[in-house]
Amino acid sequence: MRLLLVEDDADLGEAVRVALKPEGYTVDWVRDGASALHALSHESFALAILDLGLPGMDGLEVLARLRAAANPVPVLVLTARDATADRIAGLDAGADDYLVKPFEVDELKARLRALLRRSFNRPQTALEYRDVRLDPTTQEVSLHGRPVALQRKEFLLLHQLLSQPGRVFTRDRLEEVLYGWNEEVESNALEVHVHHLRRKLFPGLIRTVRGVGYMIEKA
Ligand code: CA
Repeated sequence: MRLLLVEDDADLGEAVRVALKPEGYTVDWVRDGASALHALSHESFALAILDLGLPGMDGLEVLARLRAAANPVPVLVLTARDATADRIAGLDAGADDYLVKPFEVDELKARLRALLRRSFNRPQTALEYRDVRLDPTTQEVSLHGRPVALQRKEFLLLHQLLSQPGRVFTRDRLEEVLYGWNEEVESNALEVHVHHLRRKLFPGLIRTVRGVGYMIEKA
């Protein structure tokens, strides 16, 4: 599961990243508001952990702009101790939860689990292309109505491509979706996932756009 951490404090950011890694989260970490907004507008994250006090564009501004653009990503806000006004402003601006610094990592983990549970319970529309159907809520994929077992990264790749039919996704973009920014990527890993999806579903499902990336046609 891919999370975006937005925190300018190097020690705290590192502590959160290290604490979440063994939980199976892929954590992308940015340190200012503009980078956060860019990442959240261009990439897919299950959740964002957003510090409010950031250099340049602050966390509240990031949140307000996200919600103004109808971006539904769940956001957990981090605020300084006793900054009640900030906390209220954060919730008003569209935060889903908040945590006051300093906090215990166990509490952070519990809040994240609760938020993710809530967001998964939110029904999402199934995505379809020809006889392939992907249900984001149950994370199931079927072909001609029969379930097809996909590996996690195959599922993420298919989900991304199906989310915008007709759009060409660059290799870099798809690798970011699958691996996060800090993870090593084998040079042919993406081809291997595409190959598996074509084999498990059907060969013409994913189109290779030579020198650029991959796409699924508009149905
Ligand atoms: Ca800060």
